[in-house]
Amino acid sequence: MKNIVIFGAPGAGKGTQSDFIVEHYGLTHVSTGDLLRKEIADQTDLGKRIKSIMDAGQLVSDDIVVEMMDKAIANDTKGMLFDGFPRTVAQAKTLDRLLAKYERSLTCMVQLEVPKDELMRRLLERAKIQGRADDNEVTINNRLLEYDNKTKPVAAYYAAQGKQLLIDGLGSIQDIAARIRKAIG
Ligand code: AMP
Repeated sequence: MKNIVIFGAPGAGKGTQSDFIVEHYGLTHVSTGDLLRKEIADQTDLGKRIKSIMDAGQLVSDDIVVEMMDKAIANDTKGMLFDGFPRTVAQAKTLDRLLAKYERSLTCMVQLEVPKDELMRRLLERAKIQGRADDNEVTINNRLLEYDNKTKPVAAYYAAQGKQLLIDGLGSIQDIAARIRKAIG
């Protein structure tokens, strides 16, 4: 059973490539961003608490996403693709612990590498098409800052475990998908 993390800055193409990976390997796709946006759309207590944090482009607290992930792993039987999680080294350590709790381990981490000017271009483009509340220039800058400060160190955590697969995230969607499949092998 494969358990894979897809990793990269906002706009690196994680969501798009996730679709190909889950299809190819028959995995359950779990996106913390999607789960959190659903809480907001459903106006749950949690949704009300996190809306302003997400709108500002900041990370929500580790406890919130860890609880969501624990439930998601407990309910899964196929193997999972983690998209948007872990976003801090603390979350990465917790993911190892959670997988062990369910007698699993992480197969690999797929890291999409895209230069910053291209990330900005893609995010502004997506803002026009999808109208996501956090896709505006101020919020995008905050999200890229949060990525640099808190999320980037997660890459070194997986590199130290020999689980990091670096993928060139520039080019056609199909080409990038093929690179990922080849790297996972
Ligand atoms: P995403 O859809 O992955 O770009 O996530 C959108 C927003 O959801 C982020 O900017 C954060 O506010 C929040 N979020 C998603 N995943 C996490 C996570 N693992 N830890 C903390 N906040 C998260």
